[in-house]
Amino acid sequence: MTASQPAANRRPATGASAMLAVDWTRCDGHGLCAALLPGAIQVDEWGYPILDQSELATRPRSELTRAVSACPALALRRA
Ligand code: SF4
Repeated sequence: MTASQPAANRRPATGASAMLAVDWTRCDGHGLCAALLPGAIQVDEWGYPILDQSELATRPRSELTRAVSACPALALRRA
């Protein structure tokens, strides 16, 4: 982790409940994932996603797969 990462994303993944992860070297911060998974992914003031792993764990696998497939930067992946 680096100091340049958005603060909310520095928290560690929560083990078994971690469902998605962001490759920060690829993410462009356009927020498409947040639009596809409202309530589970929010964006910070710079447009970078903030993942709520607990909420993601409640979402159907198909929704997560759709968000991963839609990420234009190939930055979102299954954890
Ligand atoms: S859709 Fe991909 S590139 Fe866009 S904010 Fe989400 S993870 Fe980043």
